[in-house]
Amino acid sequence: NDLARLDAELVDCRACPRLVEWRERVALEKRAAYRNETYWGRPVPGFGPPDAAMLIVGLAPAAHGGNRTGRMFTGDRSGDFLYAALHAVGLASQPTATHIGDGLELFGTRVTAPVHCAPPDNKPTPVERQTCRRWLDAELKILQPRLRSVIVLGGFGWQALLPVLEDAGWVVPRPRPKFGHGAHVELTGRTGPLHLFGCYHVSQQNTFTGRLTPAMLESVLSDAARAAGL
Ligand code: SF4
Repeated sequence: NDLARLDAELVDCRACPRLVEWRERVALEKRAAYRNETYWGRPVPGFGPPDAAMLIVGLAPAAHGGNRTGRMFTGDRSGDFLYAALHAVGLASQPTATHIGDGLELFGTRVTAPVHCAPPDNKPTPVERQTCRRWLDAELKILQPRLRSVIVLGGFGWQALLPVLEDAGWVVPRPRPKFGHGAHVELTGRTGPLHLFGCYHVSQQNTFTGRLTPAMLESVLSDAARAAGL
């Protein structure tokens, strides 16, 4: 399918010199706990079915998470938090995500990021966000006919996504809606309405401090799933 073709192209991308250098260096140096593993060290594609009605947009893969395992939010604490919540609301086949081939399946939901390579300090530059945008544009176009809701985890993803939605034909109000946890905006578009939800990112800064609790995340996931007809 088109999405599989897109993902196959994406994994060969080397458009951002700083990120290519970083993702490959991390993959060679490794974290002690994973020294016997072969890191992925390449762009990490979105994960989930091509006919997803709901999309979750994060920030970028983690150095020892997605950059190690090759799958979004897989093999790190952020992912443990996200997939446990997805499982709790019936959108994932299991609460854990450890490696490709672990049996995890998402139902009607896809997880992606506006930047597909792990950045130093989890901070991509605006230029890198802009460079990677072509992949999000293309992914959105493929998902568009069935897409009914999007959850954006954090302000970076929100900033990145709004122009992409606009270019894909959804009407984004002016001034542009602000990111916040619990933000909910309904956009109109030629393929039907799209419900956009804001949620704090599942990073450890938020989940360890209780700024984002499992109940808060599950509540946004349930609302967005309902809006998507899942
Ligand atoms: Fe390519 Fe995106 Fe990775 Fe940059 S961040 S190298 S555009 S996949």
